[in-house]
Amino acid sequence: MVSRVIPVDPFDLVIFGGTGDLARRKILPGLYRRFVAGQMPADSRIIGAARSEMDQAGYRQFVAEALREFIPDLRRAEGLSDFLGTIDYVAIDAQGDGGWAELAGRTRKDVVRAFYFSVAPALFGDLAERLHQHGITDASSRVVVEKPFGRDLATARDLNAVLARHFDETQIYRIDHYLGKETVQNLMAVRFANILFEPLWNSQFIDHVQITVAETVGVGGRGSYYDRSGAMRDMVQNHLMQLLCLIAMEPPYRFDPDAVRDEKLKVIRALDPVRPEDIVRGQYLANGQPGYLEDVENPASRTESYIALKVCISNWRWKGTPFYLRTGKRLRARTSEIAITFREPPHSIFEGEEGWKENVLVIRLQPNEGMNLRVMIKEPGPGGMRLTEVPLDMSFADALGETGADIPDAYERLIMDVIRGNQTLFMRGDEVEAAWAWADPVIEGWEARDDRPRGYDPGTSGPEDALMLLHRDGRRWREIRE
Ligand code: NAP
Repeated sequence: MVSRVIPVDPFDLVIFGGTGDLARRKILPGLYRRFVAGQMPADSRIIGAARSEMDQAGYRQFVAEALREFIPDLRRAEGLSDFLGTIDYVAIDAQGDGGWAELAGRTRKDVVRAFYFSVAPALFGDLAERLHQHGITDASSRVVVEKPFGRDLATARDLNAVLARHFDETQIYRIDHYLGKETVQNLMAVRFANILFEPLWNSQFIDHVQITVAETVGVGGRGSYYDRSGAMRDMVQNHLMQLLCLIAMEPPYRFDPDAVRDEKLKVIRALDPVRPEDIVRGQYLANGQPGYLEDVENPASRTESYIALKVCISNWRWKGTPFYLRTGKRLRARTSEIAITFREPPHSIFEGEEGWKENVLVIRLQPNEGMNLRVMIKEPGPGGMRLTEVPLDMSFADALGETGADIPDAYERLIMDVIRGNQTLFMRGDEVEAAWAWADPVIEGWEARDDRPRGYDPGTSGPEDALMLLHRDGRRWREIRE
């Protein structure tokens, strides 16, 4: 099946931080792919903006190098020179006065104008202020902002206030790239486009939900940044929270940005405070390679590179169905999945129930995006009535006849949504604040208790105590594997 490509309207996209890591790795390659796919009109313009002194030709060269580095099959270089023809550059310091008049002259008023703030959040206010002062933005412009959106409720509120000074909420696109993943959007399609699941989608039929985002890498070169953040702030408050919301929310009345985000917000507001005994934090130990403390060069660090939490939602649909969340670095495999374990049938007609297991619906976000439903069947053969499990397994790539390379990267989809003016997959200001309002007391709680993360061996599934979090409830984590 070939996915349909509907071109967006011509646009001017200014990337503040156009020389940065995110621009090189994600934004520019994503735009190139959309250009080659025919979605980005050739009369659009991409204008890099950063302090580095460079002219247009220099930046085009810079972009070409980034594409060569981050798009493995660029050798064919399809459309590369046409794409580079859309690229421009203006040297600008977010906190200075030079370059703004030039930028004003290079952006057009009669096309969609979007401004990607791919810089440190501390610069958002300066950028918003100067764009406004120089008349570069108006009520139809859009701004895209990256994570981290604050490090607690107070800083998130400040950022919201800074942006609100010059932009209406309908102009602000807060990126959570998890929401741009194909399978994450499929969560909504699976839930709300099929009658099959929705009647069972509640605590009467679902025993518990596990959300796992496991990485094999350590904190790498981001040590000092990561150490100020940790798994709760870096992953749970945003990405895992978004996944939880999409699983737990009520059906929105329409697939409309505010209708969807209203429902997600209700879930966040219904989250119970997390009890101390329902939190396990860990740090990876040294094992041939440096451990967490060496990686962040802070022997006294209490920041977690792993966290597991039991989260409960106090509403009619979910009371009694815990959501277990876990994420960490240097774990056994790189995998992200949501596993929904259904309750046992109310009565079994099979004696002894040998081989019996619950139905589990697993939605794999990566690798190999797809779904898998564990169902019980009769074990073949004349040996009596014994049960065995079989997976109803669907890889989206196989089912849709696409190779992994054909599935657009999250950034490609999200940037095109910005141009289309569709905010459904972006976090609204109140949603981000509600997520921090839930996360803050959890973090403050362990800080007040002087909690120390448990060490765990790299290549495992995390600290032993995390196993107990489920054992205690008579449940087990799913194995972390690719
Ligand atoms: P980075 O590699 O440090 O790049 C920062 C960019 O900002 C550079 O282009 C830099 O260029 C520019 N810059 C710095 N100070 C400036 C100023 N005063 N005025 C104008 N431009 C300025 O950072 P990054 O990794 O690309 O991250 C950018 C943003 O995305 C951050 O908010 C980060 O948290 C977020 N993010 C990044 C990733 C990722 O994978 N990299 C993932 C998620 C979120 P000059 O030095 O030339 O000015």
